[in-house]
Amino acid sequence: MTLSTTLPPETIRITTDSHTEPFWAAARERRLVAPRCASCGTFRLPPSPFCPECQSQEVDWVALTGRARLFSFSVVRGLPGLAEIVLVPVVLELDGAPGVHLVSNLVGADPEAVKIGDEVEVDFVDIADGWVLPIFRAGPTTAVSE
Ligand SMILES: [Zn+2]
Repeated sequence: MTLSTTLPPETIRITTDSHTEPFWAAARERRLVAPRCASCGTFRLPPSPFCPECQSQEVDWVALTGRARLFSFSVVRGLPGLAEIVLVPVVLELDGAPGVHLVSNLVGADPEAVKIGDEVEVDFVDIADGWVLPIFRAGPTTAVSE
Protein backbone atom coordinates (compact mmCIF):
# COMPACT_ATOMS: atom_id res chain seq x y z
CA MET A 1 0.00 0.00 0.00
CA THR A 2 1.28 3.44 -0.90
CA LEU A 3 0.31 6.19 1.54
CA SER A 4 -0.68 9.60 0.27
CA THR A 5 1.92 12.34 0.20
CA THR A 6 2.51 15.80 -1.26
CA LEU A 7 4.32 16.83 -4.38
CA PRO A 8 8.07 16.94 -3.72
CA PRO A 9 8.14 19.87 -1.24
CA GLU A 10 11.02 21.66 -2.94
CA THR A 11 8.92 21.91 -6.12
CA ILE A 12 5.96 23.59 -4.40
CA ARG A 13 6.02 27.35 -4.97
CA ILE A 14 3.49 29.87 -3.74
CA THR A 15 2.67 33.45 -4.63
CA THR A 16 1.32 35.81 -2.01
CA ASP A 17 -0.32 39.22 -2.07
CA SER A 18 -1.43 41.59 0.67
CA HIS A 19 -4.68 39.64 1.16
CA THR A 20 -3.10 36.17 1.42
CA GLU A 21 0.27 36.93 3.03
CA PRO A 22 -0.97 36.70 6.66
CA PHE A 23 -2.10 33.11 6.03
CA TRP A 24 1.35 32.16 4.78
CA ALA A 25 3.19 34.17 7.43
CA ALA A 26 1.27 32.24 10.11
CA ALA A 27 2.03 28.94 8.37
CA ARG A 28 5.73 29.78 8.62
CA GLU A 29 5.16 29.85 12.38
CA ARG A 30 3.29 26.54 12.06
CA ARG A 31 -0.03 28.14 12.89
CA LEU A 32 -3.26 27.76 10.93
CA VAL A 33 -5.31 30.95 10.67
CA ALA A 34 -8.36 32.12 8.76
CA PRO A 35 -9.56 35.62 7.88
CA ARG A 36 -12.79 36.75 9.55
CA CYS A 37 -14.60 39.96 8.68
CA ALA A 38 -13.94 42.44 11.48
CA SER A 39 -17.34 44.07 10.86
CA CYS A 40 -19.82 41.18 10.61
CA GLY A 41 -17.81 38.09 11.64
CA THR A 42 -18.15 36.18 8.37
CA PHE A 43 -15.14 34.00 7.59
CA ARG A 44 -13.75 34.69 4.12
CA LEU A 45 -11.51 31.89 2.92
CA PRO A 46 -9.97 32.13 0.40
CA PRO A 47 -9.09 35.62 1.59
CA SER A 48 -10.86 38.38 -0.29
CA PRO A 49 -10.42 42.16 -0.39
CA PHE A 50 -14.09 42.73 0.47
CA CYS A 51 -16.49 40.80 2.71
CA PRO A 52 -19.11 39.06 0.54
CA GLU A 53 -21.75 39.77 3.23
CA CYS A 54 -21.13 43.40 4.20
CA GLN A 55 -18.41 44.65 1.80
CA SER A 56 -16.12 45.60 4.68
CA GLN A 57 -12.40 45.56 3.98
CA GLU A 58 -11.51 44.99 7.64
CA VAL A 59 -10.17 41.54 8.56
CA ASP A 60 -9.14 39.78 11.75
CA TRP A 61 -6.86 36.77 11.35
CA VAL A 62 -8.16 34.12 13.75
CA ALA A 63 -5.98 31.28 15.06
CA LEU A 64 -7.64 27.89 14.52
CA THR A 65 -7.22 24.57 16.34
CA GLY A 66 -5.90 22.83 13.24
CA ARG A 67 -8.58 20.16 13.44
CA ALA A 68 -10.85 19.68 10.45
CA ARG A 69 -13.21 17.27 8.70
CA LEU A 70 -13.18 16.06 5.12
CA PHE A 71 -15.94 17.75 3.15
CA SER A 72 -14.73 16.23 -0.12
CA PHE A 73 -11.63 14.57 -1.54
CA SER A 74 -10.09 12.97 -4.60
CA VAL A 75 -7.35 10.39 -5.13
CA VAL A 76 -4.66 11.09 -7.73
CA ARG A 77 -2.40 8.18 -8.68
CA GLY A 78 0.69 9.14 -10.64
CA LEU A 79 1.73 12.34 -12.35
CA PRO A 80 4.06 12.88 -15.29
CA GLY A 81 7.54 12.10 -13.99
CA LEU A 82 6.13 10.89 -10.65
CA ALA A 83 4.54 7.57 -11.61
CA GLU A 84 4.37 6.18 -8.06
CA ILE A 85 3.01 9.27 -6.28
CA VAL A 86 -0.40 9.13 -4.58
CA LEU A 87 -2.03 12.45 -3.74
CA VAL A 88 -5.26 12.95 -1.81
CA PRO A 89 -6.41 16.54 -2.43
CA VAL A 90 -9.05 17.43 0.16
CA VAL A 91 -11.68 20.08 0.77
CA LEU A 92 -11.91 20.69 4.51
CA GLU A 93 -14.36 22.10 7.03
CA LEU A 94 -12.20 23.81 9.65
CA ASP A 95 -12.95 23.76 13.37
CA GLY A 96 -13.55 27.33 14.48
CA ALA A 97 -14.19 28.73 11.00
CA PRO A 98 -17.78 27.88 10.07
CA GLY A 99 -18.97 28.41 6.53
CA VAL A 100 -15.65 28.21 4.70
CA HIS A 101 -13.60 25.46 3.11
CA LEU A 102 -9.86 25.05 2.76
CA VAL A 103 -8.29 23.03 -0.05
CA SER A 104 -5.23 21.08 1.07
CA ASN A 105 -3.59 17.66 0.91
CA LEU A 106 -4.19 14.64 3.14
CA VAL A 107 -0.82 13.05 3.84
CA GLY A 108 0.07 9.65 5.29
CA ALA A 109 -3.34 8.16 4.55
CA ASP A 110 -4.36 4.89 2.94
CA PRO A 111 -6.25 6.24 -0.08
CA GLU A 112 -8.61 3.24 0.02
CA ALA A 113 -9.71 4.10 3.58
CA VAL A 114 -10.38 7.83 3.21
CA LYS A 115 -14.02 8.85 3.79
CA ILE A 116 -15.98 12.07 3.77
CA GLY A 117 -16.34 13.23 7.37
CA ASP A 118 -12.96 11.85 8.47
CA GLU A 119 -11.32 13.86 11.24
CA VAL A 120 -7.93 15.27 10.31
CA GLU A 121 -5.34 17.54 11.86
CA VAL A 122 -2.99 20.12 10.39
CA ASP A 123 0.71 19.55 9.98
CA PHE A 124 3.28 21.65 8.14
CA VAL A 125 5.82 20.94 5.40
CA ASP A 126 8.75 23.15 4.39
CA ILE A 127 8.48 24.10 0.71
CA ALA A 128 10.44 26.26 -1.73
CA ASP A 129 11.69 29.77 -0.91
CA GLY A 130 11.43 29.39 2.87
CA TRP A 131 7.65 29.06 2.91
CA VAL A 132 5.71 26.41 4.83
CA LEU A 133 2.68 24.54 3.49
CA PRO A 134 -0.18 23.48 5.77
CA ILE A 135 -1.11 19.85 5.06
CA PHE A 136 -3.39 17.51 6.97
CA ARG A 137 -2.99 14.07 8.53
CA ALA A 138 -5.58 11.58 9.64
CA GLY A 139 -6.89 12.01 13.16
CA PRO A 140 -7.09 9.19 15.73
CA THR A 141 -10.16 7.51 14.18
CA THR A 142 -8.51 6.95 10.78
CA ALA A 143 -4.82 6.85 11.61
CA VAL A 144 -2.65 4.47 9.62
CA SER A 145 0.69 3.35 11.03
CA GLU A 146 3.49 4.59 8.77
ZN1 LIG B 1 -18.58 41.35 6.75
